[in-house]
Amino acid sequence: MNEYTYIKRLFQAYYQEKQSEFPKVSLFNLREFGLIPWEKKVFMKRHMSFDNPDVLSNYLIKDAPRHLYSSGSLYLKPDAQHMNNKEYQGCDFIIDIDVDHFYTPCKDQHDLWICKECGNEGVGMPQTCPNCKGSKFTKVSWVCDQCLDVAKNEINKLISNFLIPDFGIDEKKMKIAFSGHRGYHLKIESEDIRKLNSEERREIVDYVSGKNINFEILGLNERFNRINGLLEENIGWSQKIMKKIIEILNQPKQVLENMLLDKNLFGFTPFYVRSFLNYKVDFLELITKGERNVWAIEGFSLTKWKKFLRGIITLLGVELDEPVSIDIHRLIRYPGSLHGKTGFKVQEIELNELDDFNPLDESNEKLDPIVFKSKKNLTHKLEIVENKLPITTIKGESFGPYVKGEVIEVPHHFAVFLLCKEVAKTI
Ligand SMILES: [Zn+2]
Ligand SMILES: [Zn+2]
Repeated sequence: MNEYTYIKRLFQAYYQEKQSEFPKVSLFNLREFGLIPWEKKVFMKRHMSFDNPDVLSNYLIKDAPRHLYSSGSLYLKPDAQHMNNKEYQGCDFIIDIDVDHFYTPCKDQHDLWICKECGNEGVGMPQTCPNCKGSKFTKVSWVCDQCLDVAKNEINKLISNFLIPDFGIDEKKMKIAFSGHRGYHLKIESEDIRKLNSEERREIVDYVSGKNINFEILGLNERFNRINGLLEENIGWSQKIMKKIIEILNQPKQVLENMLLDKNLFGFTPFYVRSFLNYKVDFLELITKGERNVWAIEGFSLTKWKKFLRGIITLLGVELDEPVSIDIHRLIRYPGSLHGKTGFKVQEIELNELDDFNPLDESNEKLDPIVFKSKKNLTHKLEIVENKLPITTIKGESFGPYVKGEVIEVPHHFAVFLLCKEVAKTI
């Protein structure tokens, strides 16, 4: 039996078992549905609709797809084949935070690449091949607690630094879900938000990412060889930046030094770091007392201060996948469905459950995305078909690293993960 047939049967059995408790998205029959089947070379089928959740459930039991999606948009005719005929009624605001799109330090351990041009290989997330400068790679992108924590932290930042204080969004209108792989989704379901067009959505995205912040507007300027810092009375970003500066200045010296040197944050050379650390206490006093607004650190020009502030923005801004939030015709993974590249469940989480949520080793059965655990300690014999695989820690147990051709015997849930990832085959 080929791997797909086996996994598809597992998915079917799962949907059968969960039939009575399968999640239902709001305004169900106004949503467009889409899916990706198991057959290779078949792309997404979309423009589908289901009259009610029972019809969907029956469909999943009969024909469990590899991936299942529904629209953030609401349409009077969700199954119309052309967008223009769907009678668009509005769209939830959707945020996708996925570590595929940004650097995390753990990728240097577990994301493997091979250059398609020259065959060079390595770890991490290069833009171009260090050997031939080619930009096409075969990649094995993996998952670990650390990158999932980074993604969770971004969701937390988004909600507590922006959506609640700056946009006044009621937490009851936010739906959070673990994506089933390397990130989280957030959906805001409110009448006001549903009316926003793409341009207005782009403005929100720009604001929370902090990418286009103009420091001069926030008060930073140079007059008579003096640098005036941010204006205290400003709210929004200015206030967040000042709070963050105070927070990092209160860090132990070594921690602050490492942050200032870190190329992914401030990226200062040792000379500027030393100067900054020498003036740290004075600077902290100046900004906490707020008597004067002149920022003076030896060697720090306006350009250096902007570099410093950009580092602060990196800490505060949210890394989100912009096109997903801007495009009003996107489909996102359906809650409760299975992710065909991991076998994990797309798991909805309440805001108050988020801090303790641990996708790769969740103790609360109801929230556990790893659904294929065997009660009878069932194991499978598999052969690795990918060149190399990194260590995987799942349910508190570590597996690997593995190399091509290796024959392994692993628990059911991990075997399903490897088969979905297409890096192993049954023997
Ligand atoms: Zn190369
Ligand atoms: Zn990781």
